[in-house]
Amino acid sequence: MTSRPEAEQETTPSAVSPAQDQTVKGTNTRKVFVRTYGCQMNVYDSERMTDVLAPEGFEATDDMEDADLVILNTCHIREKAAEKVYSELGRIRKVKQERARHGKDMMVGVAGCVAQAEGEEISRRAPIVDLVVGPQSYHQLPGLLSKVRNGNKVVETEFDIDAKFDHLSARAERPVMKRPPAAFLTVQEGCDKFCTFCVVPYTRGAEVSRSVEQIVAEAERMAAGGVREVTLLGQNVNAYHGEAKDGSIWGLGRLLRRLADIDGLDRLRYTTSHPRDMDDDLILAHRDLKSLMPYLHLPVQSGSDKILKSMNRRHTRDEYFRLIDRIREAAPDIALSGDFIVGFPDETDQDFADTMDLIRRVEYGSAFSFKYSQRPGTPGATMDNQVPEDVKSARLAELQALISGQQKAFNASRRGMVCDVLLEKKGRNPGQIVGKSPWLQPVQLDAAEDLIGSIQAVEIVEIGSNSLFGQLIAGQDDHANPGLPRLRSKGDVI
Ligand code: SAM
Ligand code: SF4
Repeated sequence: MTSRPEAEQETTPSAVSPAQDQTVKGTNTRKVFVRTYGCQMNVYDSERMTDVLAPEGFEATDDMEDADLVILNTCHIREKAAEKVYSELGRIRKVKQERARHGKDMMVGVAGCVAQAEGEEISRRAPIVDLVVGPQSYHQLPGLLSKVRNGNKVVETEFDIDAKFDHLSARAERPVMKRPPAAFLTVQEGCDKFCTFCVVPYTRGAEVSRSVEQIVAEAERMAAGGVREVTLLGQNVNAYHGEAKDGSIWGLGRLLRRLADIDGLDRLRYTTSHPRDMDDDLILAHRDLKSLMPYLHLPVQSGSDKILKSMNRRHTRDEYFRLIDRIREAAPDIALSGDFIVGFPDETDQDFADTMDLIRRVEYGSAFSFKYSQRPGTPGATMDNQVPEDVKSARLAELQALISGQQKAFNASRRGMVCDVLLEKKGRNPGQIVGKSPWLQPVQLDAAEDLIGSIQAVEIVEIGSNSLFGQLIAGQDDHANPGLPRLRSKGDVI
């Protein structure tokens, strides 16, 4: 099954290099290594951390042993993710000791949701950690690091999200930098829904939206730096309710319509959404905006009304079905994705069968699924009738087999189609590049490297387990025009 864009992936963000950023001081460059766990919001935050550190003379490195500062940007959504951080800290301790033998220092920071949730406990369990910083305090990194250099252990987990957003917009004043063709843009943080399994409302705090003006300015700067596709991010992104200059409050649909007007931004996406917040304007944006890609990640978690209620999801399975019908009416070619949790407390065989039935009825293009993980402090953790691990494992395997079949069928349905592909980076093999289809599938093809950053018409000729294989349609120029039909069948190329 496809790996989830939003779980347990580790990335080292390509940070600002001195060549890209005029504000790097002098030649006394220090190196920062950032490892990112979890969701796209963490990927975005990691990039922001390196942005904040660039004027302090920090340059990103992919080599931890070369780093003067190591930051783990952590995820707390499931138990294993936090445990991974502690075992990584064990490995870092050895690297730090080795550097010390050569007279080199190394500062170690833990950021993200594990930092927010565990605070001082982290320095207690892992004394090599110098700095613990929660997601709302990254703009303070330079000051916090100078405290560390003065010999202090620092823990900063205050919730001051407005200051963080103000800082993000201040960053937009800086010179335009060359950016990769696809980028993330956080528009909303936190969550007020309090699903009974989820730590987000505790680690990321209450729901806050950035202002329309801040987002538009950042998106314009991204486009000026060469970004062709922007994915708007939020823990509950479609709850977006940002203030416009005239004081009116905009929902996500209206924001997308505004962003679609920005020259050069050819593709828009957003993630992750809650079914309760899919309003008509957002649904109709999928019908109206050619640049809004035909992909929607809309987690339902369970197909059982009893479990949905106990998860505090605030909708029924029938309401979800009706919503899917409305979405498909507006955008018939949309690829639907979702999240599922198996083994939530008191989930019986019948409840699980209801989830399987929901999946069969909806037919997903892809989905992500997890065994329920008891998160301390959430209501689910202390509910009766916790489901045994072996039952969870068996249900997960069954569910993933179903989803995997649906994903294969969806991918196979693209064979022979011609679609626009945003070419993003070099592939594994020489001469190969990788891009993304409108439905978020990776597409591999043989093409010249200088096409990276362009949108090309590609015929899908082969289907792999996780990606599609394509061929460039000769003579087609960069499809910068979002007015082009996004889905054409073979022989119908314009
Ligand atoms: N806001 C989105 C929604 O309402 O569905 C979900 C965002 S959550 C950060 C990402 C996913 O992690 C969830 O959809 C859920 O499937 C999974 N997840 C969250 N808490 C979990 C837990 N305690 N155990 C297992 N999976 C969990
Ligand atoms: Fe967590 Fe999503 Fe529920 Fe918010 S809506 S509590 S982020 S699962």
